[in-house]
Amino acid sequence: MAAFFEQIATQEPSAAEARSRRWIYIPYDRLHDAVGPLADADPQHTVLVFMESLAKGTRRPYHKKKLTLVLSAMRHFALEQAQRGCRIVYGASPTSFSHGLLELQNKWQWQDLTTNRPAERELRTELQSAQAEGLRITFAPDTAWLSTSADFTTAFPNAATKPLRQRYLMDTFYRHMRQKTGLLMERAHSTSAPKPVGGKYSLDAENRKPWRNEIAVPIRPTFAPDDLTREVIAMILERHPDTFGSLDNFDLAVTRADAETAWRFALERLLPWFGPWEDAMSTQHPDLFHSLTSPLLNLTLLRPQQLVEDVAAAHAEGLIPLASAEGFIRQVLGWREFMRHLHEATDGFRTLDPLPQDCHPEQSEGPAFRMDQNDHDSETWVGASPNHLNANLSLPPVYWGKPSGMNCMDTVVSGVIANGWSHHITRLMVLSNLATLCGFSPRELTDWFWFAYIDAYDWVVEPNVLGMATFSDGGLTATKPYISGAAYINKMSDFCGRCSLNPKQSLGPGSCPFTALYWSFLERHEALLAPLNRMSMPLATLRKKLSAEREALRKRAQLAIDQLGRGDIVT
Ligand code: SF4
Repeated sequence: MAAFFEQIATQEPSAAEARSRRWIYIPYDRLHDAVGPLADADPQHTVLVFMESLAKGTRRPYHKKKLTLVLSAMRHFALEQAQRGCRIVYGASPTSFSHGLLELQNKWQWQDLTTNRPAERELRTELQSAQAEGLRITFAPDTAWLSTSADFTTAFPNAATKPLRQRYLMDTFYRHMRQKTGLLMERAHSTSAPKPVGGKYSLDAENRKPWRNEIAVPIRPTFAPDDLTREVIAMILERHPDTFGSLDNFDLAVTRADAETAWRFALERLLPWFGPWEDAMSTQHPDLFHSLTSPLLNLTLLRPQQLVEDVAAAHAEGLIPLASAEGFIRQVLGWREFMRHLHEATDGFRTLDPLPQDCHPEQSEGPAFRMDQNDHDSETWVGASPNHLNANLSLPPVYWGKPSGMNCMDTVVSGVIANGWSHHITRLMVLSNLATLCGFSPRELTDWFWFAYIDAYDWVVEPNVLGMATFSDGGLTATKPYISGAAYINKMSDFCGRCSLNPKQSLGPGSCPFTALYWSFLERHEALLAPLNRMSMPLATLRKKLSAEREALRKRAQLAIDQLGRGDIVT
């Protein structure tokens, strides 16, 4: 038996304790004792149940660092809670969470198991189904969020009754949350209405500087694996040798104490510089001044409330400029909360899905993407496939690290393979931009992000990719597709200077394919894009192009799509 399981087995309740104590199930992503039912539980009168599920771990080819992060953090949290006085029942199911919990229920005969209402739809539906099979489980409100579903319906009054007729704009929700929380709000007089500090809710327009090595980028703290994490690493390498990503140099925070250290560093050393360069992409400093808190937030090793309050306080003390503070708070208070409500309001985008399940595009046969055929609960986790732009090509080998000759793609993907992370602009304007322009399946792209990124869970990855990044929801989330040619990448990164392709050339051998892909995308979808106000200028420019140029652009774009599809170098 592994050392962790020997250790945790000593923390099980006695028969008398099992009868008299309250039982609480801790989902893998709620590792904090100030949220959910654990917040008001007396440790001396509580039994905590944890469950690892092999079915979940093999359902997608999750990045090895993601599997290690989740399992190591959960095991550390179980031991910490044992030290507080909780009794611990820690299970490892060869199949699903719910089957494992039903087996434990048979053994321990609890009367009721309370849990946080799961954040992931996938776990939520699984546990709700298990109730019908006899699992005695009760869902308590998930207090790890900054907003409630009432906030969402206040911002979008039709969301509850007419979800498909409602356009969801993050800015509407964000303004509501700023007013509700009072974060970065001020009053001119005690009787006047609160207004955003600085006069504007969003200072996004001030945060678009490319990186030119203006200042030294601080070196982040790293967290060497302890014995417990090393045991998880060995298990992942043995059980999941072929899954995505590298486990070399694992140095992520897996305890709340380490997460706090990482956060204090981000707050004091990174966030003062975050705003101006939040959209910049750099080869030497891929993370620049990003806080990298999303993996910790999404496991609740850190709480969003603490983060936004710390940043607002640091701004009030003059330690973080307004543009940086607002940029960070918008991500956490606005975008992150908005994403999870949108996911729930559309049932994980299933209410938008125009295709019956058996008509979904084939899953990729890329080198590492195989759904586990033995996962018998597949109906609960097959994702929705809205596909407004009818994009059905399989995700090509470059997303698995096959060199493409496109330096932006090769650089970002190699970073994802190494670390399971890259910041939002590389996700949006490199990885998703290429997929949207080429017509790669948005569902496949969503699943790729889900398993490849250490911060990805269904409630965040599905709305981000299906909604914002690929426009496959037809504009429910965004007012236009987020696409660009080479000019944007060339301006905001140093990738093009190191690329064998020429960002200033759109036709001919050696030209950057992004620009030709951009124009041929506009041409292909002209009728669908024409009603969108924000697309009127690029469409007007397209219409001025002569048919010979259009045809040349079309051919250049198709050559790149074909080369990417074959896994060849783009020339
Ligand atoms: Fe990417 Fe084109 Fe720039 Fe190369 S030239 S890095 S392919 S945008």
